[in-house]
Amino acid sequence: MTKLIAGNWKMHGTAADLGEVHAVAERAAELAGKVEVALCVPATLIHRAVETVPGFAIGGQDIHANENGAHTGDCSADMLRDAGARVVIVGHSERRDAHREADADVRAKAESGLAAGLRVILCVGESDAEREAGRAVDVVTAQLAASLPRGNTAALRAPGLDVAYEPIWAIGTGKVPTTADIAEMHAALRQTLLAELGPDGSNVRILYGGSVKSSNAAEIFAVPEVGGALVGGASLKAADFLPIVEAGAV
Ligand code: PEP
Repeated sequence: MTKLIAGNWKMHGTAADLGEVHAVAERAAELAGKVEVALCVPATLIHRAVETVPGFAIGGQDIHANENGAHTGDCSADMLRDAGARVVIVGHSERRDAHREADADVRAKAESGLAAGLRVILCVGESDAEREAGRAVDVVTAQLAASLPRGNTAALRAPGLDVAYEPIWAIGTGKVPTTADIAEMHAALRQTLLAELGPDGSNVRILYGGSVKSSNAAEIFAVPEVGGALVGGASLKAADFLPIVEAGAV
């Protein structure tokens, strides 16, 4: 499977940063067929980013599960599509934590995103305490099973769903699990996908996320069942992000 390297800009980026989007999209076009690339920018920047780089995969970082309604400050999947987004992240640990999103909320968002035609990147991951207690695999596989979208197998087969394993303690900290720990978790997540989705579960890429940098990307991408990366801090500048993209194209 072609790897997906997706950037998560979080709450960073204004029009002044569109040059970075342009530089990433230009190289991604040259590498088309070898690696897929997406940038998930703040909602305020989606439309301008799409206008800057038509044809490149711009994404959002969250959606509301409903189509519309009295949800001040939220955007629906259709609204992101209308702005030109092709991708959306759901269930990022920063949203599960700061916005108290439960697995059922994440599942509803994933279903809504797929129904609107967005590629959905569904995040799961354990806390430091859960890993220290030896519960990481049990916690994360249970989180995935409860967060997975159901009933939209055509969208899954498209394939429209990716999972991102992001240990919470590795996000933005510079800490990274051992390759053995990544391999163990990704193998367990593949088993969960197959058990929950049947043969469609084999189409779902499992990305790794958490302090991915140019210096560790190649090693992480060599781990079995690693289908790419979700990259936060190192996605903000093309000069930092593109070496990761290049590593994913090998
Ligand atoms: C993220 O927020 O999804 C992430 C992986 O961040 P970082 O790469 O900065 O650890």
